[in-house]
Order: sequence, then C-alpha cells, then structure tokens
Amino acid sequence: MAKKENKFKDYDITTQAIHTGNDYDAETGAVRRPLHMANSYKLPDDLSQVNYSSTDLLMYARNGNANQHWLEQKVAALYGAEDAIVLASGVAALHALFWTLLQSGDRVVYPKVSYMAVYRMFHELFNRKFGVETVMVDMTDLEAVKKAITPRTKLVHIETPDNPTVGVTDIAAVAEIAHKNGAILSVDNTFASPLNQRPLALGADFVVDALTKFINGHGDAQGGAILSNDLETMDRIRYEAQVNVGSVISPFNAWQIFRGSVTFPLRMQRINESSLKIAQWLEQRKNVTFVSYPGLPSNPGYQTAKKQMTNGFGGVISFGVNTDDKSVESFCAALKVVTFAVSLGHDESLIFPQPSYDERIHLYPETFRNGFIRFSVGLEDPDDIIRDIDQALHSIGL
Ligand SMILES: *Cc1c(COP(=O)(O)O)cnc(C)c1O
Repeated sequence: MAKKENKFKDYDITTQAIHTGNDYDAETGAVRRPLHMANSYKLPDDLSQVNYSSTDLLMYARNGNANQHWLEQKVAALYGAEDAIVLASGVAALHALFWTLLQSGDRVVYPKVSYMAVYRMFHELFNRKFGVETVMVDMTDLEAVKKAITPRTKLVHIETPDNPTVGVTDIAAVAEIAHKNGAILSVDNTFASPLNQRPLALGADFVVDALTKFINGHGDAQGGAILSNDLETMDRIRYEAQVNVGSVISPFNAWQIFRGSVTFPLRMQRINESSLKIAQWLEQRKNVTFVSYPGLPSNPGYQTAKKQMTNGFGGVISFGVNTDDKSVESFCAALKVVTFAVSLGHDESLIFPQPSYDERIHLYPETFRNGFIRFSVGLEDPDDIIRDIDQALHSIGL
C-alpha cells in the first residue's frame, strides 16, 4: 500500500495518538473520521490498470478499507514503524506473519512460554500440516537459543513480557543471535505496549500487537497489528494473508480501536503506575507465594526490563496464592472491583486463574505450578484494587 506521510512524526506519542490518522471529513468538515461500513468502493473508469489482488486501491473491504487504513497510520505512528497491517485479531496477525514467512522444511524457534495460540500453531499445526520444523526454547537462556538455531532456521519468535508468566526476554540479545545466523526475529509486544517497549529499535524485524488489549483498551473490539520497516515483506503479507486468505479487520472494529487508541498513552501511564504499586503490595502480603512483575527488583528479568522497557513495566502481574485450585476460584469470585474474566488491557481490572491441571503448567517455573493467577490491572483507583484483593484473600481464610 502507498504509505501516507505522518505529519505528526516529530511530536510526542500522546500527540500522535490523538492526531495521526485523523483528519477533517472531506465532505462535511466533521472533525472526526467517519465510519465507512461499505463492502465496495467506486471503481475507476479505466479497469485495465486495476490489480484485484492489491491493497493499494480502495475497492473491496477485504482488500483494505478506509477505517483499516486510518488505524494502520495510527498504529505505525505509535510504534515509530514504517508500516502497519491491521487484521481481525491478535492471533490473525500472528498467523498472517507465520503463514507468509514459513515454508515446508523451514525451522522456527519459539518460546517455552507464549500466548496459547502460538503454542498451538507451533506445537501442533504448522509442523503437522506443513512440515515446518518447530523447536521450543527457554528464551531467557541465551546459550539454549544459540544452540537451537541452525542454518535452516527461518524465524525466531519471542514474546516479552510473556503470557501468562510475565517473564522477560532480552530482545536485543536474541536479535543479535538470530541475525548472526540469518534468521528473522518477530516479537509479540502486546504485554509491554508501544509506550513502554519498541522492539524494532532493538533489532526486531517484525512486531505483533494484539490491539484487542491495551491499544483499544475498552474491552469492546478485537484486532491485531503487524509492524515492520520491511515494506516488501509487508506487502507480501497483505497479498498472501489478507487479500487471499481473508483475515482483514471489519471497518467497525477498526473505527472502535481508532477511538480507543486516542487515550492509549495516558491510560498506559496510569496502568504502569498502578501496576507497580499493586505488585509491591502483593509482594509483602502474607499468603502470596510469588509475584512476577518486571518492575520488581526481585524479578529475574528486572535488569533486562529496565534496559528495554523505557517508560514502565506494563499492566499484567502474575502471582500465586497459597491454596488449591478450588479456593483460587472462590477468591476470584469474591472480588468486587476486579472482574473474573479472561483477556487483559481493558479499562476494568481482570483476573484469570491458571489451574494446576492446565496442559502447559509443566512449562512454567516450579513456583508457578500451584495457586497461579494472571492479573491485568485496570484504570480503577489502585488502593481500591488493593483493598479488593485483600478482602477476597480474607474471604478464603488467607
Ligand atoms: C491476547 C493476546 C494475543 C491474541 O490477541 P487476540 O486479539 O485475542 O487474538 C496475542 N498475544 C498476546 C500476548 C496476547 O495477550
């Protein structure tokens, strides 16, 4: 797609979140971009120049739609990236990237701890269906990463902080190892968000962000983005995964996320501050067995996080409570301010237990195998959240 110049490039991220991609409506002068719920756009009179597999021309919503394009300008600006592709969900973005880059016979190195669908794609699907060799590695162990990369390795994929243990991987170090061996590095940056971490500047080739989470921030629309400065491969992703496989975002969801993203930097600043405060409180609360948050000096990833997360440590905290699966559920159900539901990055705080019978529990550090809870900090008053967690722990006798 032809890139549109970002007029706000030299301004702060808060200013870009408001202005980039927005403009006066050409027809009415309205100060907001309209929502165009249209499947088709008027064709040029001369059809001989039309490429039906291209995303350049607004023609058909799956090939690209106006609200998607405006959101792409915004998300590229938030990441300081040359280009962004916005698709139907975070998983659609991950899949589009892997589907485009990988061929039968390639090798991919992926993390021991990652988003569930990444685990499924590499543990089960890409290997079985397409003969891609997939190798799971502990990404905090750089020697193990070096050993896992062979000349056939096409892609190294990492996620930092990771879902659900909130572990930290050194992006620059893994980028160096990958590139020395001719491999591409992709980073799932959803937990950190572009306010806190810019993987392209640290050497990553591709970034994926589940816009569903912090960038939309209101828990009411799903979308995902791929960011890169490699314009040629980005166009190949549009051709192979969007136009001809169909993972495009709907105009309505793009419009909704565009609106949510206006306040993203401000929300994220608040979430960074609240999360650190809550993590510090949890760490000294009796009957809390562990707290995993990159901003705590006790965290094994603290030094790396300080180096690569420049504005804060994000909004997800994992912690353990000293009890069994059943009582963990009772604890979650007893919360009044925090909502007992999956997902993260919403305006409201969300809590989700990771029971000891979870299929992947053996992949997590030893301490995480009992009473493990993933907690996404919302925009409520942090003292109210602390009070709520405290009363719910008391309610189960802890
Ligand atoms: C939620 C999430 C995704 C997937 O996003 P969806 O919009 O739910 O498909 C990918 N990666 C991480 C780290 C996530 O937390």
